[in-house]
Amino acid sequence: MERFDLLIKEALLPGRGIVDIGIKEGKIHKIAPKIEAQAKETVFVKGKILMPSFANMHTHVPMSLLRGIGADLPLMEWLQKVIWPLEGEFVSPEFVRAGTLLGVAEMIKSGTTLFMDMYFFEEEVGEVCKNAGIRAGLGFGILDFPTKVAKTPEEYLKRAKEFALNLKGEELIFPVLCPHAPYTCSPDTLKKAKELSEELDLFLHIHVAETKGEVEKIKEEYGQTPVLHLENIGFLSEKVLCAHMVWLSEEEMDIVKDRKVKVAHCPESNLKLASGIAPVPEYLRRGIHVCLGTDGSASNDNLDMLEETATMAKLHKGNNLDAKAIDAPTALKVATEKGFSAVGIKAGKVEEGYEADLLLIDTDKPHLQPLYDPVAQVVYCAKSSDIDTVICRGKVLMEKGELKTIDEEEVLHEAKKWGEKIRAFLDRQQTLG
Ligand SMILES: [Zn+2]
Repeated sequence: MERFDLLIKEALLPGRGIVDIGIKEGKIHKIAPKIEAQAKETVFVKGKILMPSFANMHTHVPMSLLRGIGADLPLMEWLQKVIWPLEGEFVSPEFVRAGTLLGVAEMIKSGTTLFMDMYFFEEEVGEVCKNAGIRAGLGFGILDFPTKVAKTPEEYLKRAKEFALNLKGEELIFPVLCPHAPYTCSPDTLKKAKELSEELDLFLHIHVAETKGEVEKIKEEYGQTPVLHLENIGFLSEKVLCAHMVWLSEEEMDIVKDRKVKVAHCPESNLKLASGIAPVPEYLRRGIHVCLGTDGSASNDNLDMLEETATMAKLHKGNNLDAKAIDAPTALKVATEKGFSAVGIKAGKVEEGYEADLLLIDTDKPHLQPLYDPVAQVVYCAKSSDIDTVICRGKVLMEKGELKTIDEEEVLHEAKKWGEKIRAFLDRQQTLG
């Protein structure tokens, strides 16, 4: 008799009906209407919808502790007046650990098993991820201006390199390089980051063309719009993941396509910070590789990829007056498979040979019955609280809504304690100001 590590019984796989899934060594090994086999662990799911888990391709997970502060401000004002001063006061390994635990708990609960993060003290993020059993591509943020963590671009690059070298060879987490943006990194810093990425064979993850103001600023300083500027200094390649990409010219779209640059679309952050709407249907028509991200919780204000998927689909329909601008299957593909494949992970599809990164949706809910079209109804009816089980590389991270690798109560307790400290600081600032 066959032996599996994990056997999922009676799942509803859209397009295939009710199936059993045998998982071995982290991969989907067998999908069949009925599998009689031995397994270390068997879960009976009684018709819950089985689908790939989400890949959140742009986050700053520790910022979960700053969620909800400075609502209703545009990007630059929000960064300069709210976020950067708070980070100057609070960012530390302890802050990063508590914020990451909170963010990772939220992500697992809402079905994410891979995220691409950019922040400071990313070794703390890595430790949390290893214990939680979630995948992550982590990068130590590189800037030109001094912060608590480094003073000069050279020092940031040195720390980013040390971080990357220490992290190589892990099973679920991998290092990337994160120069923050063309408006916070000089061409020299960007070139050095690019060289380092080639030396260490790493992906680059950067913010690009997020606001009209950024486009104007880069044009003024370097005579070119952001993507052209990056192209001119030799930065772009298929190993570059660009978050936002809201304001691109036709010529820039051609470059992105030719260079096989990966675009991390962050619709909710772009809406909330009034940055604009990225022309994603046009990117998809041109064959540009688009994946989806939430951005940090402080600008979204959550890490919910199912909500982000629904927002993306509806936003572009409305914006283009075209109900087919992004359909439900495309939206799910962008949020799952396109994310994993952007960084070379064979996951995001429920097929034999793919990594077992999966989730199950409980459809015994008033807003999910009757169930006619599971794919469309996941996008347009389901809420992330309907996600019942989450599996990353064959390991169950959540079952029946209960986190298996994180003590949720403890995480919430810590987050509230941080909230009190941060609130006291904000109150002091207000009295002074
Ligand atoms: Zn960001």
